[in-house]
Amino acid sequence: MTHACPPLPGVLVDRLAGARRVAALTGAGVSAESGVPTFRDAQSGLWARYRPEELATAAAFESDPATVWSWYEWRRDLVAAARPNAGHLALARLESLVPEFTLITQNVDGLHARAGSRRVIEFHGNLFTNRCFAGCGEVTDVPRPCPEPPRCRGCGGWLRPGVVWFGEPIPQPALLAAQAAALECEVFLAVGTSAQVYPAAGLASLAQRAGALVVEINPAPTGLDGAAAVTLPGASGVVLPALVEAVRVARGTRQ
Ligand code: NAD
Ligand code: ZN
Repeated sequence: MTHACPPLPGVLVDRLAGARRVAALTGAGVSAESGVPTFRDAQSGLWARYRPEELATAAAFESDPATVWSWYEWRRDLVAAARPNAGHLALARLESLVPEFTLITQNVDGLHARAGSRRVIEFHGNLFTNRCFAGCGEVTDVPRPCPEPPRCRGCGGWLRPGVVWFGEPIPQPALLAAQAAALECEVFLAVGTSAQVYPAAGLASLAQRAGALVVEINPAPTGLDGAAAVTLPGASGVVLPALVEAVRVARGTRQ
């Protein structure tokens, strides 16, 4: 983990302070400092012998709903016990400083909303919602804990977690809203994402081609190197609070 904040280029602070429209794409790295593991971290305990790509698919659920459901119950417990960190809080604060701020998250943990972000596109859904696996349209809250996969009230089939699994398309409204935000923004922040899962990973280059300044915040190199004009190599819980505070000060002196 990188604890030091890299230097913040003046041009970046100025662009953010003067921008009307800003978009941010976040990935699992933003929640890492809350103790929620990324998929690239080794899974712990009971789940160490599984790869997420073997559990987070419709085929895995179809062949073994109980195992996939209990992995989600484990993840829900982990997230329910976690708290938003300084990175989540800084993004919520940035929303209050920028006239039009759109947060696109690949995270399914709901921590951005818990930190106070209001305009959030949950690109990959949310861990705590459930919908019918057969697709009858039923969407249901399930009281927790719920150790066994529940049955759909609409058709009697299985209920599944309301997330987007590997190989599944992004729901059209989320995709269109995220693409519009990427096309229209003046600054695009890509934070804590390895940029390997498409179409989310393509949003940064869409923004860059449309003229936005693309900024990457990540302690490790990623596939975004081509699109990012500025790379801030550090942890989001360190870099984002410093960046947002610099923007707040710069906005204050612009009146
Ligand atoms: P990823 O696991 O592919 O990549 C995580 C990235 O975060 C890496 O590039 C890593 O260098 C970076 N990182 C680690 N610690 C960081 C920190 N403190 N600050 C900033 N960056 C840090 O995650 P992804 O790109 O989001 O894509 C994987 C998929 O996994 C997504 O589809 C997502 O839905 C799913 N996922 C979500 C959660 C969650 O909701 N919290 C957790 C695990 C996986
Ligand atoms: Zn159903």
